[in-house]
Amino acid sequence: MEYDEVIKTYFPYDSFRKGQYETIKDILEAFDSYDYIILDAGTGFGKSAVARTILDYMASEQYKDSYLLTSTKMLQEQYYSECANNKHHVDYKIAKGRANFLCREYNSLFNCNQGACQEDTTDNYHCKYGMMGKDPRNNGGCYYWKQKGDAIKSDVAIMNYDLLLSDYPNHYKYRDIMVLDEAHNIDNKVMQRVGLTLNKQRLKKLVGFEIDASDFDEKSIDYWLHMLEALEQDLTEHIINEYKYEHTKREMDQIRRLKDTITKRISEIKFEPSFWFVNPMFFEDKVIIKPRDVRGYVKPLLLDNAEKHLFMSGSIINKSNFVKYLGLNDDEVYYSQAESTFDMKKNNPIIKKFCGSLTYNQKEKTLPKTYPVIEEILSKHNGEKGIIHCNSKEFRDKIIENVHTNRFLTYDSSLEKEELLEYFKESEYDNVIVAYSLEEGVDLPYENVTFQIIFKIPYPFLGDAQIKARKDADSEWYMTETIRKLVQTQGRGMRAEDDHCTNYVLDSSFNGIIRNKLCPKSFKECVI
Ligand code: SF4
Repeated sequence: MEYDEVIKTYFPYDSFRKGQYETIKDILEAFDSYDYIILDAGTGFGKSAVARTILDYMASEQYKDSYLLTSTKMLQEQYYSECANNKHHVDYKIAKGRANFLCREYNSLFNCNQGACQEDTTDNYHCKYGMMGKDPRNNGGCYYWKQKGDAIKSDVAIMNYDLLLSDYPNHYKYRDIMVLDEAHNIDNKVMQRVGLTLNKQRLKKLVGFEIDASDFDEKSIDYWLHMLEALEQDLTEHIINEYKYEHTKREMDQIRRLKDTITKRISEIKFEPSFWFVNPMFFEDKVIIKPRDVRGYVKPLLLDNAEKHLFMSGSIINKSNFVKYLGLNDDEVYYSQAESTFDMKKNNPIIKKFCGSLTYNQKEKTLPKTYPVIEEILSKHNGEKGIIHCNSKEFRDKIIENVHTNRFLTYDSSLEKEELLEYFKESEYDNVIVAYSLEEGVDLPYENVTFQIIFKIPYPFLGDAQIKARKDADSEWYMTETIRKLVQTQGRGMRAEDDHCTNYVLDSSFNGIIRNKLCPKSFKECVI
């Protein structure tokens, strides 16, 4: 079938948005010669319709199976509700982790992470609903195993990055196609998977391993390499003497997985110690050990699960930098770019309300000047909902303490953030979220957010040794990350063609951003 005919047959809507038809054709043709394709398309272009056309065609005509990867569970649901009942009978299935299902054996009183099979300490427990043998496709109807088996059998498995990256042991198999939505998140997702988080309380409870308060003063990789070797020994002892310690099945899975990861990391750190960095977080009771970057991990951990790949994002910002940290070469990647169809300049303007610089040395002088400006903006948007993006808990606390209003809402954990967002969307009040990490993964259209204050430019935190080392090695990466966060932040309040959101910037460092050659023209044009 010619690609024109393919597009007419498989495009899921009656009409095309500007550029969609040409882009789908371009991508289908590129798939004949390339394994890696980037679709860099702005807000409102309709990237999900592009993905659906390609996935439906590949399943129906080429008999190819695919992964559709998203960065959040909310986006998985959104794709599933759009795709599940399609006229071509392509089998889309959603896959989620254990904690999202209720245990049938426990009469749905607990989730499958706390299910009877997971609490067992003998390794002989047999649940009639569970997996039969080693293949999840054969199961007795446990809600968790059933959805996993169905996803493995499906034409298109809709998964989130964390789930595929943490699949252990590898149940999900090699597929023909992988569509990677919000692909700018890949770097972070793989870094979270590769980095080792040593949680003091968890390790003590799991295997009795002690991290002392004085250990948090140590930032040397050599020091922590010795700690890892000691921990590896303790984990091995618990694996060998499993029955002596009476661990549950869930604990044993955690111990085995952690031991495997630590063994790998020890040999990688020994091979190139200068590539590894330690971030002790005393107040959060954890230490994170991570590599300077993940370019050597993205392919083996993620991309090698499929033959052909379509990366989709509205904020690639810097193609060469993006490709480099995927561990790919420029000449093996096909790049397709499309403009946003929204009138961002008119409906999503950025207004400079500079109060000064908020760098470490300047913040004490600048902070008092910001409070009356925030009060003025709140008063101008009386009766409307908004967000203040602070980029740190320190600035969040200062604003709440010094700005006089009863409209503020905030959160202290990701769970609280989810609950707060639900409340915020339902609320009739003109609340304003004072946020330190809300530039991505939330959908707040129309009256849900009509104004935003970008309080501080979201530079990555240089107090983290790994981020500092990565910036020193590649200053372009650091600026790319900052601009990407700003572009994402601007997009939070503008979710449809007729949506409207006004953005105010208080941090005068913004001038340096919009003068930078990496800053997209479409973003600069919104500044008034
Ligand atoms: S396999 Fe059985 S015991 Fe285990 S989570 Fe599923 S229903 Fe519960």
